[in-house]
Amino acid sequence: MSPLAQNESRPAAEAPQTAPAVPLAVLIVDDSEDDVFLVTRRIQARYPGARCARVEDAEGMRTALANERWDLVISDHQMPAFDSLAALETLKASGHDIPFIIYSGELAQHQGIDAMGDGAKDFIYKNSPERLLPVIERELKHWHVRRAKESAERSMVRLANFDELTGLPNRSQFTERLNQRLTEPGMLRASICYLDLDRFMRINETFGYAAGDLLIRQVGDRLSARFGKNNMVARIGRDEFTVVIDLHEGEQPGSSADALMQAFAPPFQLGGQELYLTPSIGMSLYPEHGRDAVTLMKNAESAMFDAKQGGRKAFQLYRAELHLDSRLRLLLESGLRNAIARDEMKVVYQPFYDLSQRRIIGAEALLRWHHPEMGLISPMQFIPIADETGMILDIGAWVLQQACAQTKRWHNRGHFPFTIAVNMSAAQFRQSTVAHTVESVLNETQLPASSLELEITETLAMQDAQATAATMRRLKELGVQLAIDDFGTGYSSLAYLKRFPIDILKIDKSFIRDATVNEDDAAIVRAILALTRSLKLIAHAEGIETREQSAFLVQENCERVQGYLYGKPIDSEEFSLLIERGSAEERRLQERLAIAMAH
Ligand code: C2E
Ligand code: MG
Ligand code: MG
Repeated sequence: MSPLAQNESRPAAEAPQTAPAVPLAVLIVDDSEDDVFLVTRRIQARYPGARCARVEDAEGMRTALANERWDLVISDHQMPAFDSLAALETLKASGHDIPFIIYSGELAQHQGIDAMGDGAKDFIYKNSPERLLPVIERELKHWHVRRAKESAERSMVRLANFDELTGLPNRSQFTERLNQRLTEPGMLRASICYLDLDRFMRINETFGYAAGDLLIRQVGDRLSARFGKNNMVARIGRDEFTVVIDLHEGEQPGSSADALMQAFAPPFQLGGQELYLTPSIGMSLYPEHGRDAVTLMKNAESAMFDAKQGGRKAFQLYRAELHLDSRLRLLLESGLRNAIARDEMKVVYQPFYDLSQRRIIGAEALLRWHHPEMGLISPMQFIPIADETGMILDIGAWVLQQACAQTKRWHNRGHFPFTIAVNMSAAQFRQSTVAHTVESVLNETQLPASSLELEITETLAMQDAQATAATMRRLKELGVQLAIDDFGTGYSSLAYLKRFPIDILKIDKSFIRDATVNEDDAAIVRAILALTRSLKLIAHAEGIETREQSAFLVQENCERVQGYLYGKPIDSEEFSLLIERGSAEERRLQERLAIAMAH
């Protein structure tokens, strides 16, 4: 028997059948050829074309079971080298689920009952052969019913674990697989991406649900073709998919988003028509944003909702600070209300340097909150809350006022020109009166507008690019400088930058951190520097902590630098010392700069 035929025999035996489309196949275990002849005649009279074969020992039975398909086993009880119980065991050991009937001349009733307890379906005495056909018929019927039930159960399992339309794992199956994957030894870091197709409802409404289904299937096919290597693609909602992409050492999460966006670049087909679809992508990172599938998916989903707010085709990495535990959040929220009145807020100043002049040319104002019980709370935690609740309007105006007044004092002491950079949050920037607020602070403090830089983050700028550009133009009319903060972290189109009347690009510290160890990050920094030059902007690198990073930026002709290497954020008195007395710290910094330049 060829191996191929062996392989074929199993699926055939397991395939669910109703009425036997192929002739019945009966394996008869009996030493008596005459008895087998009679039984075969009987069976073939009822089932024309039935195939009956005889074996008489365990070996013969095993071979027959392994090589051919059987619907039924009929076994004698007592044979010279074999008996029905051993035959039953042989059948069970073969793994086949085939009805087993004992057909015997000499069998005590209690033996028959024992055999049935072991799994035989019935026992028939050879002296009442008229029972044979009804029992066979009954057993075949039972067998088919059992098979149908099993196959229904299998498809229920499939339905419970897989999405019918795309064949991809569904949410519960994906969760299980992701948890499993996270325990695999090779798994170090991965991005969990949550995709929601943009404006898919419109497609359903315009072309109908059947067309929508067709597109969903194409999206599923495309995603699993490109990212399905570890089976980590799933459909978890009407137009929602999840994809897990391994991140290699030093790889930025943005690269996963890029790869996903690229997968949507070619058009989809709909009845000969080409159609473009885009996703909004939320992403969480393993292990930073969670160590189990449920947490990672929840965080990726909330990032997706953030991304959606940025319009279509947006990417957002999960921001833990936006999703604090709700009790802590309430506590912070109520504390924030009176923080300024209670004198718990303070503005600190971090110097930034001009690399060619080798001196401090300004400072970034950074807010600090000393909570009476909780101690120092990071702006990453409280700024988003202040922003969402609108409290940032008062807080932001206060920071602006403090920073401008302080800078004016430094000017008055002869430190001029000296620039102050102030961060603006989304709510502040969207307020229709923002330009007016800035103008009145400048008037009140008498700070020249050109000494004030306003920073808005890249993500905020991109959220409503048109409105952003309009507000920026109003601010520019006042004469202030505008900077894009945390540049490189958002998913922005560089073309937009040209539309903004900006002066400075602040390169996000994540790129600086890795630029000296990862060639991709170095390439990104170089590209941003080339971009700033071609757009005639000032490049400002943040988060410089090491001499290597500093040397790299000197070599690449970055104009401005800021980071712990040059100076941490300090309060206004310390800062005054730093710039007034040319403090020891500054001398050390100057030395560091000199070393970096010589590098
Ligand atoms: P940002 O505007 O990007 O500010 C730079 C952040 O990087 C500051 O964190 C600063 O302390 C930190 N930093 C500076 N040098 C280094 C370095 O060498 N290494 C590292 N690892 N970090 C460095 P901070 O003060 O915690 O502020 C965090 C963010 O909170 C700021 O990011 C800004 O977006 C926001 N923020 C702070 N103050 C204000 C404010 O008055 N208004 C608004 N709207 N946002 C603020
Ligand atoms: Mg900033
Ligand atoms: Mg920044």
